[in-house]
Amino acid sequence: MFVKTITCPRCDIHYSNGKPLQTCSCGSPLLVQYDYTAIRKAFKKEMLNKRGNTLWRYRELLPVKNDANIVSFGEGMTPMVHLKSIGKRMETPALYLKDEGCIPTGTFKARGAAVGVSMARELGIKVLAMPTNGNAGGAWSSYCAAAGIRAVIVMPQDAPDINRRECAIAGADLFLVNGLISDAGKIVNRAIAENNWYDASTLREPYRIEGKKTMAFEIAEQFDWNVPDVIIYPTGGGVGLIGMYKGFKELMELGWIEAKMPRLVAVQSAGCAPIVKAWDEHAEECDFWESSRTIAFGINVPKALGDFLVLEALQESHGCAVAMCDHEIIAAQQLLALQEGLFVCPEGAATLAAAQWLVKRDWINPDDRVVLLNTGTGLKYPDTVRADPPVLTPNERILSP
Ligand SMILES: *Cc1c(COP(=O)(O)O)cnc(C)c1O
Ligand SMILES: [Zn+2]
Repeated sequence: MFVKTITCPRCDIHYSNGKPLQTCSCGSPLLVQYDYTAIRKAFKKEMLNKRGNTLWRYRELLPVKNDANIVSFGEGMTPMVHLKSIGKRMETPALYLKDEGCIPTGTFKARGAAVGVSMARELGIKVLAMPTNGNAGGAWSSYCAAAGIRAVIVMPQDAPDINRRECAIAGADLFLVNGLISDAGKIVNRAIAENNWYDASTLREPYRIEGKKTMAFEIAEQFDWNVPDVIIYPTGGGVGLIGMYKGFKELMELGWIEAKMPRLVAVQSAGCAPIVKAWDEHAEECDFWESSRTIAFGINVPKALGDFLVLEALQESHGCAVAMCDHEIIAAQQLLALQEGLFVCPEGAATLAAAQWLVKRDWINPDDRVVLLNTGTGLKYPDTVRADPPVLTPNERILSP
Protein backbone atom coordinates (compact mmCIF):
# COMPACT_ATOMS: atom_id res chain seq x y z
CA MET A 1 0.00 0.00 0.00
CA PHE A 2 2.49 2.62 1.18
CA VAL A 3 5.77 0.88 0.41
CA LYS A 4 8.08 3.17 -1.53
CA THR A 5 11.27 1.15 -2.02
CA ILE A 6 13.31 -1.64 -0.55
CA THR A 7 16.68 -0.24 0.42
CA CYS A 8 20.12 -1.51 1.37
CA PRO A 9 21.25 0.20 4.58
CA ARG A 10 24.91 -0.47 3.68
CA CYS A 11 25.25 0.74 0.08
CA ASP A 12 21.95 2.61 -0.30
CA ILE A 13 20.87 0.77 -3.48
CA HIS A 14 17.09 0.85 -3.98
CA TYR A 15 15.14 -2.16 -5.16
CA SER A 16 11.61 -2.01 -6.51
CA ASN A 17 8.83 -3.59 -4.50
CA GLY A 18 6.62 -6.41 -5.74
CA LYS A 19 9.22 -9.04 -6.69
CA PRO A 20 10.76 -11.66 -4.43
CA LEU A 21 13.86 -10.10 -2.88
CA GLN A 22 16.57 -11.63 -0.70
CA THR A 23 19.70 -9.78 0.43
CA CYS A 24 21.38 -6.88 -1.41
CA SER A 25 24.04 -7.74 -3.98
CA CYS A 26 26.54 -6.56 -1.31
CA GLY A 27 25.22 -9.20 1.10
CA SER A 28 23.47 -6.83 3.50
CA PRO A 29 19.87 -7.33 4.64
CA LEU A 30 17.31 -5.10 2.89
CA LEU A 31 14.86 -2.79 4.66
CA VAL A 32 11.41 -1.67 3.56
CA GLN A 33 10.91 2.10 3.20
CA TYR A 34 7.46 3.65 3.16
CA ASP A 35 6.03 6.88 1.85
CA TYR A 36 5.77 8.48 5.27
CA THR A 37 4.27 11.73 3.92
CA ALA A 38 1.37 9.79 2.44
CA ILE A 39 0.99 7.69 5.61
CA ARG A 40 0.95 10.83 7.76
CA LYS A 41 -2.06 12.05 5.77
CA ALA A 42 -3.92 8.75 5.59
CA PHE A 43 -3.26 7.25 9.04
CA LYS A 44 -4.05 8.96 12.36
CA LYS A 45 -3.42 7.56 15.83
CA GLU A 46 -7.11 8.00 16.65
CA MET A 47 -8.02 5.48 13.94
CA LEU A 48 -6.45 2.77 16.13
CA ASN A 49 -9.33 3.01 18.62
CA LYS A 50 -11.58 1.24 16.14
CA ARG A 51 -9.15 -1.44 15.05
CA GLY A 52 -8.68 -5.05 16.12
CA ASN A 53 -6.14 -6.05 18.76
CA THR A 54 -3.60 -7.57 16.37
CA LEU A 55 -0.44 -6.24 14.78
CA TRP A 56 -2.49 -5.62 11.63
CA ARG A 57 -3.91 -2.55 13.37
CA TYR A 58 -0.78 -0.82 11.99
CA ARG A 59 -1.76 -1.90 8.49
CA GLU A 60 -0.49 1.27 6.77
CA LEU A 61 3.01 0.59 8.15
CA LEU A 62 3.09 -3.00 6.93
CA PRO A 63 4.12 -4.18 3.46
CA VAL A 64 1.21 -6.41 2.36
CA LYS A 65 -0.77 -4.84 -0.52
CA ASN A 66 -3.83 -7.02 -0.74
CA ASP A 67 -5.78 -7.90 2.45
CA ALA A 68 -6.66 -11.26 0.91
CA ASN A 69 -3.03 -12.35 1.32
CA ILE A 70 -2.92 -11.76 5.07
CA VAL A 71 -2.44 -14.89 7.17
CA SER A 72 -3.29 -14.08 10.77
CA PHE A 73 -3.99 -16.05 13.94
CA GLY A 74 -4.69 -12.88 15.92
CA GLU A 75 -1.01 -12.20 16.75
CA GLY A 76 -0.01 -8.97 18.45
CA MET A 77 -1.07 -6.54 21.19
CA THR A 78 0.46 -8.73 23.89
CA PRO A 79 0.10 -7.64 27.53
CA MET A 80 2.36 -5.04 29.15
CA VAL A 81 2.66 -6.37 32.70
CA HIS A 82 3.78 -4.07 35.52
CA LEU A 83 6.30 -6.04 37.64
CA LYS A 84 5.26 -4.38 40.88
CA SER A 85 6.86 -6.77 43.30
CA ILE A 86 10.22 -7.27 41.58
CA GLY A 87 10.36 -3.58 40.62
CA LYS A 88 9.94 -2.61 44.24
CA ARG A 89 12.66 -5.01 45.38
CA MET A 90 15.00 -3.64 42.73
CA GLU A 91 14.09 -0.03 43.56
CA THR A 92 13.08 0.45 39.95
CA PRO A 93 9.32 0.83 40.39
CA ALA A 94 8.53 1.45 36.71
CA LEU A 95 9.59 -2.03 35.64
CA TYR A 96 7.41 -3.70 32.98
CA LEU A 97 7.43 -6.91 31.01
CA LYS A 98 5.93 -7.18 27.55
CA ASP A 99 4.70 -10.74 27.44
CA GLU A 100 5.07 -12.37 24.05
CA GLY A 101 4.38 -15.70 25.71
CA CYS A 102 0.70 -15.02 25.01
CA ILE A 103 1.05 -14.88 21.23
CA PRO A 104 0.01 -17.69 18.83
CA THR A 105 2.75 -20.38 18.58
CA GLY A 106 4.02 -19.26 22.00
CA THR A 107 6.84 -16.95 20.90
CA PHE A 108 7.20 -13.56 19.20
CA LYS A 109 8.45 -15.41 16.12
CA ALA A 110 4.74 -15.37 15.19
CA ARG A 111 5.04 -11.66 14.33
CA GLY A 112 7.78 -12.23 11.77
CA ALA A 113 6.02 -15.30 10.42
CA ALA A 114 2.64 -13.55 10.05
CA VAL A 115 4.07 -10.72 7.96
CA GLY A 116 6.77 -12.82 6.25
CA VAL A 117 4.39 -15.58 5.17
CA SER A 118 1.68 -13.10 4.11
CA MET A 119 4.24 -11.41 1.86
CA ALA A 120 5.48 -14.76 0.55
CA ARG A 121 1.90 -15.54 -0.42
CA GLU A 122 1.50 -12.14 -2.09
CA LEU A 123 4.70 -12.75 -4.06
CA GLY A 124 3.44 -16.14 -5.25
CA ILE A 125 6.05 -18.19 -3.37
CA LYS A 126 5.34 -21.94 -3.41
CA VAL A 127 8.28 -23.26 -1.35
CA LEU A 128 10.38 -21.51 1.26
CA ALA A 129 13.29 -22.80 3.31
CA MET A 130 14.98 -21.71 6.52
CA PRO A 131 17.42 -22.73 9.24
CA THR A 132 16.09 -22.23 12.77
CA ASN A 133 16.88 -22.84 16.41
CA GLY A 134 13.29 -24.03 16.75
CA ASN A 135 10.77 -21.29 17.49
CA ALA A 136 10.92 -19.64 14.07
CA GLY A 137 10.55 -23.08 12.48
CA GLY A 138 7.44 -23.76 14.53
CA ALA A 139 5.89 -20.39 13.74
CA TRP A 140 6.72 -20.37 10.03
CA SER A 141 5.52 -23.98 9.61
CA SER A 142 2.17 -23.03 11.13
CA TYR A 143 1.65 -19.87 9.07
CA CYS A 144 2.85 -21.66 5.91
CA ALA A 145 0.31 -24.42 6.54
CA ALA A 146 -2.43 -21.80 6.66
CA ALA A 147 -1.08 -20.09 3.52
CA GLY A 148 -0.65 -23.30 1.49
CA ILE A 149 3.10 -22.78 1.18
CA ARG A 150 5.57 -25.64 1.56
CA ALA A 151 8.07 -25.00 4.36
CA VAL A 152 11.48 -26.72 4.38
CA ILE A 153 12.96 -26.41 7.87
CA VAL A 154 16.43 -27.38 9.11
CA MET A 155 17.19 -27.21 12.84
CA PRO A 156 19.92 -28.40 15.20
CA GLN A 157 19.41 -31.88 16.57
CA ASP A 158 19.41 -30.61 20.14
CA ALA A 159 16.80 -27.88 19.60
CA PRO A 160 13.85 -28.31 21.98
CA ASP A 161 11.76 -31.36 21.15
CA ILE A 162 8.55 -29.33 21.08
CA ASN A 163 9.78 -27.37 18.05
CA ARG A 164 10.13 -30.57 16.01
CA ARG A 165 6.61 -31.53 16.88
CA GLU A 166 5.28 -28.11 15.90
CA CYS A 167 6.89 -28.41 12.47
CA ALA A 168 5.75 -32.00 12.11
CA ILE A 169 2.10 -31.41 12.90
CA ALA A 170 1.98 -28.47 10.49
CA GLY A 171 3.31 -30.70 7.72
CA ALA A 172 6.65 -28.97 7.15
CA ASP A 173 9.57 -30.84 5.56
CA LEU A 174 11.77 -31.03 8.63
CA PHE A 175 15.46 -31.97 8.77
CA LEU A 176 17.78 -32.10 11.77
CA VAL A 177 21.48 -31.36 11.67
CA ASN A 178 24.14 -32.52 14.04
CA GLY A 179 25.44 -28.97 14.58
CA LEU A 180 24.45 -25.36 15.20
CA ILE A 181 22.03 -23.01 13.44
CA SER A 182 25.00 -21.84 11.35
CA ASP A 183 25.41 -25.43 10.10
CA ALA A 184 21.68 -25.62 9.36
CA GLY A 185 22.18 -22.38 7.42
CA LYS A 186 24.84 -23.94 5.21
CA ILE A 187 22.53 -26.82 4.30
CA VAL A 188 19.68 -24.44 3.54
CA ASN A 189 21.95 -22.26 1.36
CA ARG A 190 22.91 -25.24 -0.78
CA ALA A 191 19.31 -26.44 -1.08
CA ILE A 192 18.12 -22.99 -2.11
CA ALA A 193 20.78 -22.65 -4.78
CA GLU A 194 19.94 -26.10 -6.16
CA ASN A 195 16.14 -25.83 -6.05
CA ASN A 196 15.52 -22.13 -6.52
CA TRP A 197 13.49 -21.92 -3.31
CA TYR A 198 12.68 -18.70 -1.46
CA ASP A 199 15.17 -18.08 1.36
CA ALA A 200 13.25 -17.23 4.54
CA SER A 201 16.37 -17.21 6.76
CA THR A 202 16.70 -14.43 9.31
CA LEU A 203 17.16 -11.10 7.49
CA ARG A 204 17.55 -12.78 4.09
CA GLU A 205 14.09 -11.56 3.10
CA PRO A 206 12.95 -8.05 4.03
CA TYR A 207 9.58 -8.75 5.67
CA ARG A 208 10.11 -10.74 8.84
CA ILE A 209 11.60 -7.64 10.44
CA GLU A 210 8.48 -5.67 9.44
CA GLY A 211 6.43 -8.01 11.61
CA LYS A 212 8.82 -7.72 14.54
CA LYS A 213 8.97 -3.91 14.43
CA THR A 214 5.31 -3.85 15.53
CA MET A 215 6.56 -4.52 19.09
CA ALA A 216 7.80 -0.91 19.06
CA PHE A 217 4.41 0.35 17.88
CA GLU A 218 2.65 -1.57 20.64
CA ILE A 219 5.07 -0.46 23.36
CA ALA A 220 4.58 3.18 22.31
CA GLU A 221 0.81 2.80 22.15
CA GLN A 222 0.63 0.93 25.47
CA PHE A 223 2.44 3.84 27.13
CA ASP A 224 0.15 6.37 25.45
CA TRP A 225 2.84 7.37 22.94
CA ASN A 226 5.46 8.18 25.59
CA VAL A 227 8.22 5.68 24.95
CA PRO A 228 10.00 4.01 27.88
CA ASP A 229 13.58 4.93 28.80
CA VAL A 230 15.06 1.45 28.42
CA ILE A 231 14.07 -1.70 26.51
CA ILE A 232 15.97 -4.92 27.21
CA TYR A 233 15.90 -7.50 24.46
CA PRO A 234 17.30 -11.08 24.28
CA THR A 235 19.38 -10.92 21.12
CA GLY A 236 20.14 -13.80 18.78
CA GLY A 237 19.91 -12.72 15.14
CA GLY A 238 18.85 -9.33 16.42
CA VAL A 239 15.81 -8.94 14.17
CA GLY A 240 13.57 -7.81 17.01
CA LEU A 241 16.05 -5.19 18.13
CA ILE A 242 16.72 -3.79 14.66
CA GLY A 243 12.99 -4.00 14.04
CA MET A 244 12.06 -2.02 17.16
CA TYR A 245 14.69 0.59 16.34
CA LYS A 246 13.17 0.95 12.87
CA GLY A 247 9.67 1.00 14.32
CA PHE A 248 10.40 3.84 16.74
CA LYS A 249 12.08 5.83 13.96
CA GLU A 250 8.95 5.41 11.84
CA LEU A 251 6.75 6.67 14.68
CA MET A 252 9.02 9.73 14.97
CA GLU A 253 8.73 10.22 11.21
CA LEU A 254 4.93 10.26 11.58
CA GLY A 255 5.12 12.61 14.55
CA TRP A 256 3.33 10.09 16.79
CA ILE A 257 6.12 10.12 19.38
CA GLU A 258 8.76 12.66 20.38
CA ALA A 259 12.26 12.35 18.98
CA LYS A 260 13.39 10.27 21.94
CA MET A 261 14.70 6.76 21.30
CA PRO A 262 14.56 4.28 24.20
CA ARG A 263 18.03 3.04 25.20
CA LEU A 264 18.13 -0.41 23.63
CA VAL A 265 19.92 -3.17 25.50
CA ALA A 266 20.96 -6.41 23.82
CA VAL A 267 21.27 -9.27 26.30
CA GLN A 268 22.99 -12.51 25.35
CA SER A 269 24.04 -15.63 27.18
CA ALA A 270 27.65 -15.76 28.35
CA GLY A 271 27.84 -19.04 26.38
CA CYS A 272 27.12 -17.22 23.11
CA ALA A 273 27.82 -13.50 23.25
CA PRO A 274 29.26 -12.31 19.91
CA ILE A 275 27.34 -9.01 19.99
CA VAL A 276 28.50 -8.25 23.54
CA LYS A 277 32.10 -8.97 22.61
CA ALA A 278 31.92 -6.74 19.53
CA TRP A 279 30.22 -4.01 21.60
CA ASP A 280 32.94 -4.13 24.25
CA GLU A 281 35.63 -3.98 21.59
CA HIS A 282 33.91 -1.12 19.69
CA ALA A 283 33.90 -3.31 16.61
CA GLU A 284 31.48 -2.78 13.73
CA GLU A 285 30.84 -6.46 13.17
CA CYS A 286 31.01 -9.67 15.19
CA ASP A 287 33.45 -12.54 15.07
CA PHE A 288 32.04 -16.04 14.82
CA TRP A 289 31.51 -17.35 18.40
CA GLU A 290 33.09 -20.81 18.58
CA SER A 291 31.45 -23.72 20.45
CA SER A 292 28.46 -21.66 21.57
CA ARG A 293 26.24 -23.19 24.22
CA THR A 294 23.26 -21.96 26.27
CA ILE A 295 19.90 -23.12 27.63
CA ALA A 296 18.40 -20.01 26.00
CA PHE A 297 18.25 -21.74 22.67
CA GLY A 298 16.60 -18.89 20.75
CA ILE A 299 19.66 -16.70 21.29
CA ASN A 300 22.27 -19.31 20.43
CA VAL A 301 23.39 -17.52 17.25
CA PRO A 302 27.20 -17.51 16.83
CA LYS A 303 27.22 -14.93 14.01
CA ALA A 304 24.29 -12.85 12.78
CA LEU A 305 23.89 -11.40 9.28
CA GLY A 306 22.56 -8.15 10.71
CA ASP A 307 25.15 -7.80 13.48
CA PHE A 308 26.31 -4.40 12.18
CA LEU A 309 22.73 -3.12 12.30
CA VAL A 310 22.32 -4.34 15.89
CA LEU A 311 25.54 -2.59 16.94
CA GLU A 312 24.45 0.57 15.17
CA ALA A 313 21.05 0.55 16.92
CA LEU A 314 22.76 0.09 20.31
CA GLN A 315 25.14 2.95 19.55
CA GLU A 316 22.53 5.35 18.18
CA SER A 317 20.10 4.71 21.04
CA HIS A 318 22.81 5.09 23.72
CA GLY A 319 22.14 1.52 24.74
CA CYS A 320 24.54 -1.28 25.60
CA ALA A 321 25.10 -5.04 25.36
CA VAL A 322 25.46 -7.41 28.31
CA ALA A 323 25.99 -11.15 28.76
CA MET A 324 24.40 -13.21 31.54
CA CYS A 325 25.36 -16.70 32.68
CA ASP A 326 22.86 -19.51 32.33
CA HIS A 327 22.58 -19.88 36.11
CA GLU A 328 21.67 -16.18 36.40
CA ILE A 329 19.08 -16.69 33.67
CA ILE A 330 17.56 -19.65 35.52
CA ALA A 331 17.49 -17.68 38.79
CA ALA A 332 15.69 -14.80 37.06
CA GLN A 333 13.20 -17.22 35.52
CA GLN A 334 12.49 -18.59 39.00
CA LEU A 335 12.09 -15.12 40.47
CA LEU A 336 9.60 -14.04 37.80
CA ALA A 337 7.47 -17.11 38.49
CA LEU A 338 7.71 -16.84 42.29
CA GLN A 339 7.18 -13.10 42.61
CA GLU A 340 4.99 -12.27 39.64
CA GLY A 341 3.45 -15.60 38.60
CA LEU A 342 4.99 -15.42 35.13
CA PHE A 343 6.50 -18.53 33.57
CA VAL A 344 8.77 -17.02 30.93
CA CYS A 345 11.23 -18.59 28.52
CA PRO A 346 14.95 -18.47 29.44
CA GLU A 347 15.59 -15.83 26.75
CA GLY A 348 12.98 -13.60 28.39
CA ALA A 349 14.38 -14.31 31.84
CA ALA A 350 17.79 -13.12 30.65
CA THR A 351 16.31 -9.62 30.33
CA LEU A 352 15.52 -9.52 34.06
CA ALA A 353 19.01 -10.76 34.92
CA ALA A 354 20.40 -7.97 32.74
CA ALA A 355 18.13 -5.38 34.38
CA GLN A 356 19.35 -6.42 37.84
CA TRP A 357 22.95 -6.11 36.68
CA LEU A 358 22.38 -2.69 35.08
CA VAL A 359 20.56 -1.36 38.15
CA LYS A 360 23.49 -2.41 40.34
CA ARG A 361 25.87 -0.51 38.09
CA ASP A 362 23.62 2.57 38.03
CA TRP A 363 23.22 2.27 34.28
CA ILE A 364 19.49 2.05 35.00
CA ASN A 365 18.25 4.82 37.31
CA PRO A 366 15.45 4.44 39.86
CA ASP A 367 13.11 6.69 37.87
CA ASP A 368 13.75 5.03 34.50
CA ARG A 369 10.81 3.30 32.89
CA VAL A 370 12.14 -0.08 31.84
CA VAL A 371 10.55 -2.67 29.55
CA LEU A 372 11.75 -6.29 29.58
CA LEU A 373 10.87 -8.13 26.43
CA ASN A 374 9.80 -11.68 27.21
CA THR A 375 9.99 -13.29 23.80
CA GLY A 376 8.14 -16.51 24.60
CA THR A 377 6.33 -18.75 27.05
CA GLY A 378 8.19 -20.94 29.52
CA LEU A 379 5.74 -23.70 28.61
CA LYS A 380 7.86 -24.38 25.53
CA TYR A 381 10.90 -25.07 27.74
CA PRO A 382 9.65 -27.47 30.44
CA ASP A 383 13.15 -28.90 30.93
CA THR A 384 14.46 -25.64 32.42
CA VAL A 385 12.45 -26.33 35.57
CA ARG A 386 12.91 -29.10 38.07
CA ALA A 387 9.86 -30.55 39.75
CA ASP A 388 10.23 -33.50 42.14
CA PRO A 389 7.14 -33.40 44.36
CA PRO A 390 6.46 -36.15 46.93
CA VAL A 391 4.30 -38.98 45.62
CA LEU A 392 1.38 -40.03 47.81
CA THR A 393 -0.69 -43.17 47.91
CA PRO A 394 -4.45 -42.42 47.67
CA ASN A 395 -4.91 -42.86 51.44
CA GLU A 396 -1.95 -40.79 52.54
CA ARG A 397 -2.40 -37.44 54.29
CA ILE A 398 -0.68 -34.15 53.54
CA LEU A 399 1.36 -33.12 56.55
CA SER A 400 1.36 -29.36 56.90
CA PRO A 401 4.91 -28.06 57.10
C1 LIG B 1 14.50 -16.17 18.13
C2 LIG B 1 14.35 -15.86 19.53
C3 LIG B 1 15.03 -14.79 20.13
C4 LIG B 1 16.01 -13.94 19.38
O1 LIG B 1 15.40 -13.19 18.39
P1 LIG B 1 16.20 -12.32 17.34
O2 LIG B 1 15.25 -11.26 16.94
O3 LIG B 1 16.57 -13.20 16.21
O4 LIG B 1 17.40 -11.76 18.02
C5 LIG B 1 14.77 -14.52 21.45
N1 LIG B 1 13.92 -15.26 22.17
C6 LIG B 1 13.27 -16.31 21.65
C7 LIG B 1 12.35 -17.11 22.53
C8 LIG B 1 13.45 -16.65 20.31
O5 LIG B 1 12.80 -17.69 19.80
ZN1 LIG C 1 24.02 -3.26 -0.40
